[in-house]
Amino acid sequence: MVELKSAGESIMSQLFAGDVYNSSVYLKRCFPEIRSSIVTAIGQDNLSNKMLKCFESEDINTHFVFRHDNKAPGMYLIETDETGERSFTYWRSDAAARKIVDFLDAYTLAQLSSEEMLFFSGISLAVIEKRSRESFWLKLKTLKDAGVKIVFDPNYRARLWQSEDEAKCQFENAFDLADIALPGVEDLSALYGINSAEDVIEFLKLFGIQEVVVKNGPESVVTFDGDKYLSHHITPVADVVDTTSAGDAFNGVYLGARLSGKTITDAVQLGALAAGTVIQHTGAIAPYAAFKNAMAETYL
Ligand code: AMP
Repeated sequence: MVELKSAGESIMSQLFAGDVYNSSVYLKRCFPEIRSSIVTAIGQDNLSNKMLKCFESEDINTHFVFRHDNKAPGMYLIETDETGERSFTYWRSDAAARKIVDFLDAYTLAQLSSEEMLFFSGISLAVIEKRSRESFWLKLKTLKDAGVKIVFDPNYRARLWQSEDEAKCQFENAFDLADIALPGVEDLSALYGINSAEDVIEFLKLFGIQEVVVKNGPESVVTFDGDKYLSHHITPVADVVDTTSAGDAFNGVYLGARLSGKTITDAVQLGALAAGTVIQHTGAIAPYAAFKNAMAETYL
């Protein structure tokens, strides 16, 4: 999405952000040897051109970024009041990205079938038009049957859904297909009244998910590898500036680490370090040099 933020009187700064994009950026910054592609739709307008350039500047593959003839990207405005409280206004009901399923034809699916992993979130699901949902699930099943690992983070945002039942129904389709789930405790407590990481894993076991990583802010990350639980200590960050995209950074770096053959334990440590770094900066995307410096001590 296009992000607008006040940068002083009568000045607006303009960036690009979105949960899956954020994850892709952090994956690529830590694991440049992994090809990371974004699957989305943008428009023919100037902001869309800038968005594409932004993806390229982060070394993200744009082969699966499609151009809609007459839609433009979604946009949001961040405002901060005198107490520092932030509020968001969104314009996304007519965003090009809502049409993405229309672009996933047989040829594109065949290309995606040779990829190793496909990651999507509850926000991706909420964005896809209702009329395309059935088609989306069929296409995802085609990819899974072709051997693509399916990864899902529920990233529940109540205001994107008409009802809790609607969100639960879509999430349960995703849990049925997922090989890896990266939920936060918050996601499932809001929808299912589940309040601990262990109970999240018990719930997701019902769907047969082989790898589950449960995030819980500064609390321990709890994982399940299809056999056993592990609890991973997180060192709380003392000077949290902005928690935007903590989970996204964690996801991107965790998945990059797993794709590079690292163990679940090492991948959690790397994901947590990335997330802990990002929350010490404002905005979704931390400055390149500061982020790289923080990760340098891990000898990635
Ligand atoms: P969340 O989406 O809030 O559950 O956070 C995702 C990840 O960001 C967590 O699993 C932690 O690795 C990291 N994180 C979030 N908040 C903090 C914090 N206050 N201190 C250190 N790490 C954090």
